[in-house]
Amino acid sequence: MTRSNILAASLAVLVFAGLVTLAALGDKLVFYWRIAHLYFESPEARISMPLLDVSKNQIANTWHAPRGTDRVHEGQDIFAPRGTPIYSSTKGYVYKIGENNLGGQTVSVIGAGGRVYYYAHLDSYAPGLAEGDPVTTKTVLGYVGTTGNAQGTPPHLHFGIYTSDGAINPLPLLADRVPSTASRAKPATQKTPRSLVSRKA
Ligand SMILES: [Zn+2]
Repeated sequence: MTRSNILAASLAVLVFAGLVTLAALGDKLVFYWRIAHLYFESPEARISMPLLDVSKNQIANTWHAPRGTDRVHEGQDIFAPRGTPIYSSTKGYVYKIGENNLGGQTVSVIGAGGRVYYYAHLDSYAPGLAEGDPVTTKTVLGYVGTTGNAQGTPPHLHFGIYTSDGAINPLPLLADRVPSTASRAKPATQKTPRSLVSRKA
């Protein structure tokens, strides 16, 4: 390699690195712009049931039920076998993926109106899911489990909705899914009877 070749190669590397940095910055700006944009949209009047095989009337209403002496239940518990896929109730963007004491493994999605949809007690996250990812009602976020303070209870999804004014009850907004709105991986023959509703947790 001649001296000028090395110089040209170094320049090329520098230009490439600069472009990659700009692209990354651009992605971040696009993400912030999209989130900012959500605040100008009105929040959904109807959202999809996060679990395919559960209908709204199977949910025991535990909104604001006392939890210990200093807390009320800020959401709804939707019971299903461990490992049941959890679909996003709305379109939006993955806002946060993380673990906390009460919720265990959780995914938050930000949707229209800046509402944050909170999915907790996940057994595991959907493979490859990352903060900033766009989601639709066909996106799997994770799988039903018992992480956080759900340990020792029947597996369930804790589903919460947070607005700028605090938590709101998800139950009146939830609408049953039409079975064809999301693809099912399960073979049609596999049908196990089970109880989906428990008032325990
Ligand atoms: Zn709960």
